[in-house]
Amino acid sequence: MRYDIVIIGGAIVGSSVAYYLREQGFSGTIALIERDPQFAHAATTLSMASIRQQFSIPENIRLSQFTLKLFRRLKEEFGDDADIGFREGGYLILAGEDGLPILRSNHQAQIAEGADIVLEDADQLVRRFPWLSTEGISAGAYGRTGEGWFDAHAMLTLFRKALRQKKVDFIAADVTGIARDGNRVTGVSLGNGETLEAGIVVNAAGPNAGKVAAMAGLELPVEPRKRNVFVFEAREKYADMPLLVDPSGIYVRPEGSVYLTGGAEPEEGDCAPDPGDFEVDWPLFEEVIWPVLATRIPAFEAIKPTRAWAGHYDYNTLDQNAVIGPHPDVGNFLFANGFSGHGLQQAPAVGKALAELIVHGGYRTVDCSAFGYERVAEGRAFRELNVI
Ligand SMILES: Cc1cc2nc3c(=O)[nH]c(=O)nc-3n(C[C@H](O)[C@H](O)[C@H](O)COP(=O)(O)OP(=O)(O)OC[C@H]3O[C@@H](n4cnc5c(N)ncnc54)[C@H](O)[C@@H]3O)c2cc1C
Repeated sequence: MRYDIVIIGGAIVGSSVAYYLREQGFSGTIALIERDPQFAHAATTLSMASIRQQFSIPENIRLSQFTLKLFRRLKEEFGDDADIGFREGGYLILAGEDGLPILRSNHQAQIAEGADIVLEDADQLVRRFPWLSTEGISAGAYGRTGEGWFDAHAMLTLFRKALRQKKVDFIAADVTGIARDGNRVTGVSLGNGETLEAGIVVNAAGPNAGKVAAMAGLELPVEPRKRNVFVFEAREKYADMPLLVDPSGIYVRPEGSVYLTGGAEPEEGDCAPDPGDFEVDWPLFEEVIWPVLATRIPAFEAIKPTRAWAGHYDYNTLDQNAVIGPHPDVGNFLFANGFSGHGLQQAPAVGKALAELIVHGGYRTVDCSAFGYERVAEGRAFRELNVI
């Protein structure tokens, strides 16, 4: 069997690439291969499902802005019943004296891109959010609009449902090998013994992307990193609460009647986990996160943790930024990897960008050249400073 395009990984990035290929008029055959069709372990479904414009790099802001526009015209794109529960609650990123220069320069980059972010000092923050303690805080950047959270599963379902009308073959299988002939990949082999010939192969394998690239003999500095998300109840309900990021890296946001929190994984020992390791690190909540929450929001001294989960980040060890586009020497092998914690919100834009590259030979909507593999080959970091 031969496909014009084989996409490895059928979660949000792979589905988005397939979706926008059809949107851009690609009429060839497409296979979307997924080894975990329930998405029990995908980063997509285990994520915090939040979208922000508070990045340091203009290209990252633009990718999120594309997705934001899509969220605002979701029904137009996917039909009247399309709903991903998008709540435009904002982000509030706090900085102490040390972090202030970076917060300021990030803010300049954000407003230059038209983002609705305000920089406020401690007094202004307390007037806006009376429940906040500004101990050790010099300022905060708050997204009044254009940032918030949504239902990741619903978003993935929208794309996958739309693909069913767009003649894309969903294949439930594990890609175990990639055939290469010199500077071209020629096909993939599957765990069930089948092989598929391929005109183009797209790597959308999330945290497993480094291993998938290695199947084609290519190096990609992307590996899994375990990240925990804790759910807790509190008596106080703050309807105006944004996704708050403490200078320690710990974040918290409301989710319906409960709250989600995480962040500040210790740098020491932060390495690729066993692929099957999704065990929650409860001591992280008890010993690190809770004390910070109670300091920042005094009412959170009395909270009740109810459940938790762990997922794997698709972590780019070079610069915590996406790698997008073809390999310079193996031009029909395309990357859409290494998003390092912001891939869900970037997936629609990246899907569109790769589709434009394949169909038209160049980026038209969001220029993703800066994310190209060339920097990886040169060992040149394109670093995002706001990694949450
Ligand atoms: C705890 C946590 C919180 C996060 N919070 C946010 C957030 O708030 N906002 C945000 O934008 N992003 C967030 N992210 C990051 C985001 O979830 C990811 O960047 C994004 O989902 C990546 O999508 P993906 O489709 O590339 O990867 P995945 O969702 O991991 O999908 C990759 C798919 O490829 C399949 N696959 C892998 N190898 C093979 C193979 N050999 N054969 C067949 N199939 C294969 C896997 O089964 C998987 O389903 C978070 C991630 C985590 C873990």
